[in-house]
Amino acid sequence: MESRRNDSYLDRYAARAQGMVPSEIRALFAVASRPEVVSLAGGMPYVSALPLDLVGDMAARLMSTRGADALQYMSAQGDPGLREQICEVMALEGIQASGDDIVVTVGSQQALDLVTRLFVDPGDVVLAEAPTYVGALGTFAAFQAEVVHVPLDAAGLVPEALRETLARLKTQGRTPKFLYTVPNFQNPAGVTLAVRRRAEILGICQTYDVLLVEDNAYGLLGFDSEPLRVLRADDAERVIYLGTFSKTIAPGLRVGWALAPPAIRAKLVLAAESAILSHSALTQLLVREYLATQPWREQIKNFQELYRERRDAMLDSLEALMPAGCTWNRPGGGFYVWLTLPEGLDSKAMAPRAIANRVAYVPGTGFFADGSGRDALRLSYCFPAPERIREGVRRLAATVEHEITMLGTFGTTGTQASTGVDRPGSDLT
Ligand code: PMP
Repeated sequence: MESRRNDSYLDRYAARAQGMVPSEIRALFAVASRPEVVSLAGGMPYVSALPLDLVGDMAARLMSTRGADALQYMSAQGDPGLREQICEVMALEGIQASGDDIVVTVGSQQALDLVTRLFVDPGDVVLAEAPTYVGALGTFAAFQAEVVHVPLDAAGLVPEALRETLARLKTQGRTPKFLYTVPNFQNPAGVTLAVRRRAEILGICQTYDVLLVEDNAYGLLGFDSEPLRVLRADDAERVIYLGTFSKTIAPGLRVGWALAPPAIRAKLVLAAESAILSHSALTQLLVREYLATQPWREQIKNFQELYRERRDAMLDSLEALMPAGCTWNRPGGGFYVWLTLPEGLDSKAMAPRAIANRVAYVPGTGFFADGSGRDALRLSYCFPAPERIREGVRRLAATVEHEITMLGTFGTTGTQASTGVDRPGSDLT
């Protein structure tokens, strides 16, 4: 708020800049990154688990053998060899595709931006799960979309709710531009769309002629099963699939992609050209080299084992320590646990007090376009070591316990931040 008041350019911005406000997660990073705070907030992949020496040798070799290509401009669609390798990766999820239909992007976040840029005019409806990925909400806001939420349950997006929402919109004469969904190990809810629901969701989208944007950032990070068949595997015409190497290799490379029907793909390439002119050849060739020379499937298994151990540390300590009235899901993969607080508690008001107790999480409100989510919060287990996770949950449990006592004693948990950290609340607005 402070920066808006001090912004003398406020009356010159385009209308779309109104929607560009910091996400809850970004505000939290500033405080959560202090060493004394156990951060269960950001979803940072644990890149230290990569064989960094080997990757370093590989990078040096790349520079000496293909340095001139790696440092040159390249097409906005991306390196053809890499696009073929991406097809191999997607084949693990049941997709048969041609490298021609892929556009390499600056992480899948840019793919989301380009897709939204192509389809959304101000005021257009975009359907999104509730809760949904905060970065998608940021993009939709930047393009002035109206986000209409469709609820999730433990088995993912609820087909009946989707059907009802589409029927209601139809009576209002409104056609959503697309449905945005994260089917596997969803961010933030940790849930996975049940196999039996997948064909049903596709069928509903066919009936109402709705395009689907399937964001599968976590699909290869399942703990208990082979990768699930994605929606795109059964409908190449209606689904735009977004993928990324951020969770299976490293987010610092910023290599993601969109797989789209040919006409849309051609537009995406034009949109990418106007956004970035050329992708980084260096990081694309690094990923290409990594996939060609490193045991990437084994490395993904290593990540699965590492994250499974961290998930177990979180679930075991939640079970042991959280006060009655808290509930949470048991994610089968990915990075996140979604925790619902006892009635009357407010995750947003509690966040500064949690940080004063040296633990950070993301309040549920960050994941809804309509301000709901105060009763829930997101916990990430991907980055801290298991003993830090256990300590973080201990601090969180103590915080929640205290809130419950306040609520019982005063009928309110109060709104002031506790002492102990410099004005933690100021970073959380
Ligand atoms: N989609 C989802 C669901 C995510 O969780 C993330 C990263 N947190 C992204 C997309 C974007 O990832 P990237 O741009 O690094 O590929």
